[in-house]
Amino acid sequence: MLLHIPTLMLALLLGFLLLTLALGVSQQGVRARPEIRRWTLGCWALLGGFAMLAARVVLPLELSVVLGNALVCLGLALYAQALYLLLCGHTGPRALMQVQPGIWLALLLMLDWPLNQRTAVLSLVYCALLLPSVLVIGRHGWRAERSLRVVATTMALSVAAHLVRAVHALLHPDDYGTLMQASLGQGLTFLVAFICLLGAGFGFVLAVFERVASQMEEMATRDGLTGCWNRSTTDALLAHELQRGHRAGTSVAFVLLDLDHFKQVNDRHGHRTGDAVLRAFADAVRRRLRASDVFGRTGGEEFGLVLPDTEVAGARWLVEAVRREVEALALTDERGQPVKVTVSAGVAVADARSRLSGDRLYGQADQSLYEAKRAGRNRVEVYGITAGASAALPLT
Ligand code: GH3
Ligand code: MG
Ligand code: MG
Repeated sequence: MLLHIPTLMLALLLGFLLLTLALGVSQQGVRARPEIRRWTLGCWALLGGFAMLAARVVLPLELSVVLGNALVCLGLALYAQALYLLLCGHTGPRALMQVQPGIWLALLLMLDWPLNQRTAVLSLVYCALLLPSVLVIGRHGWRAERSLRVVATTMALSVAAHLVRAVHALLHPDDYGTLMQASLGQGLTFLVAFICLLGAGFGFVLAVFERVASQMEEMATRDGLTGCWNRSTTDALLAHELQRGHRAGTSVAFVLLDLDHFKQVNDRHGHRTGDAVLRAFADAVRRRLRASDVFGRTGGEEFGLVLPDTEVAGARWLVEAVRREVEALALTDERGQPVKVTVSAGVAVADARSRLSGDRLYGQADQSLYEAKRAGRNRVEVYGITAGASAALPLT
């Protein structure tokens, strides 16, 4: 069986053309992401490279060899940069672009070499340009978006095919009389080496969309400033924990935490310090929580805690510890002035038999929070326990 390289080249050209057009169209819909733009540029370079290689039937051979291979090399470097942008936020080693003029020079010097030797050297250059892509996914991407595994695997396959092609070209010079000659070995290695890049392209696009989807989910469920769950997610998680507590026969505690006189913190120290205080407060609370506890930002400087499998005593102990920790925070503003901050808390507990709704429990916690504010702030009140009495409970 012989494989006809011009036909393969035409198929590859069409494949890359379709991928490039699809990328171009999708970018008009989704806010253009730099990594997608870089990959699209890589596709254009590869498309141009294959077109130039195929055009040797009409163009001078020298032009086809130099421009065709140089563009393919540029395309591979752009692919690596796109992967670095996605995984590391920068374009990766500068050498990827710095070697490009050297490749042009080497191509000019290799013009009168026999095709098999030029093919062997160029296949090794392609391997060297593909390896950074494989390595950056291996290091930073294997546990990230799953589609990146497809990219790494197809690119590693391409590296292997190029290696085989290099050896094959040296061992079978007769198969490499011209690039357009029909041959099984040359055709097969050419096909695998480049079709894999097409597969990598589809994998890359899927990986970027996986990333966009998870970022959108994050934005829809989390508060951007503090990293806490947002109000609607907190409500949903509270309802879920109440149902689970009812089935398991365990209590669920709900706590509302509200920073005291926070308007004054903003007025005295500025909004940016206010934001920093909110973040520091959230970090302090988070340090105290179990993995199963839910911590949400329910309003500006108001937060909610859902504590599964927690009785009144346990909830009060935890919230009192949080209150003390917040009181002890040594914060400063941008001018180095100390910022004092305290928190008031209202606790409500749903025991397994009460079948309280999330709304009711929220209302009870809110009522206790109001009591805590009224009784002087910087204190914890528990719903159902006479105001003031709960603050007097021992901590241990
Ligand atoms: P109280 O002790 O009664 O809770 O008094 P307070 O001043 O904390 O309550 P109030 O509701 O009067 O003011 C809340 C303040 O929280 C007003 C608002 O500017 C501030 N705030 C809400 N969200 C943010 C935010 O995201 N960043 C900053 N810096 N301030 C915020
Ligand atoms: Mg407040
Ligand atoms: Mg408030």
